[in-house]
Amino acid sequence: MAERVTRFAPSPTGPLHLGHAYAALVAAGRSDRFLLRIEDIDRARCKPEFEAAILDDLRWLGLSWEIPVMRQSDRLPAYDAALARLYETGLTYHCTCTRGDIKAALSAPQEGAAMIGPDGPVYPGTCRGKGHRAGALRLDMAAAMARLGEIGFHETGVRAGEHIYSVAQMIEKVGDIALARRDIGTSYHIAVVVDDAAQAITEVTRGEDLFEATAIHVVLQRLLGLPTPAYHHHRLIRDDQGKRLAKRDDARALAKYRAEGATPEDVRRMVGLPPISSQKSGKIL
Ligand code: GLU
Ligand code: ZN
Repeated sequence: MAERVTRFAPSPTGPLHLGHAYAALVAAGRSDRFLLRIEDIDRARCKPEFEAAILDDLRWLGLSWEIPVMRQSDRLPAYDAALARLYETGLTYHCTCTRGDIKAALSAPQEGAAMIGPDGPVYPGTCRGKGHRAGALRLDMAAAMARLGEIGFHETGVRAGEHIYSVAQMIEKVGDIALARRDIGTSYHIAVVVDDAAQAITEVTRGEDLFEATAIHVVLQRLLGLPTPAYHHHRLIRDDQGKRLAKRDDARALAKYRAEGATPEDVRRMVGLPPISSQKSGKIL
């Protein structure tokens, strides 16, 4: 069987909580090679002390990973190269709209209810064809899909099976997504696609909250000539009220359970994973 390469890609914007522990254990458990990637492109929100604490928590959980660890803040030239390549395809345009402009355009009487895509309200296309020279870079989805035709990917997680997206679906439900935000010069979508390819990831394991973004990633892979890995979206760990955990929920931080004397096996039990000792092969999950 081919070597399985997975990754855990935390953003160091807060402490690791139970949901992240679960994500990391799922990714490591599905791999022959387990890689780590620090997703710190949003410099304003990321802190080195969170990164150090995340690595410490992961080691405590019993995980190990290959070094060097990929850090997105070191990868800006690779993202710029991908953006330049997309720009050269002629399938992008610059957008000078503020959030307020987009809101106003979407609430115009002729617009009807705004479609909510993976990145929020579907962009109304105001700047398409305007020839702006600066601003956020957007993908002209209709032009891109005219070139690609329907796209799809194979899912092995919560929605196991083949997922196919038609040209019309991508235009209506996703639309002209931003490829480079003005503030950070790139976007999550570009960074994740470029890095998953650079790390030769064979199966992207991540939370089900990112399922809808995957079609965007496949479009970008196709336009950039990068392979599409398999995807494994896992369930999200929720609190007692059924709300998903967020980094700011410090009450659910792994550090808190550690301080209270919990063991890694306790954590596995809390997130619904079988104990390591029950695994004959020595591989977790
Ligand atoms: N950095 C993202 C997060 O912390 C994960 C992105 C991904 O796995 O594609 O949720
Ligand atoms: Zn615009």
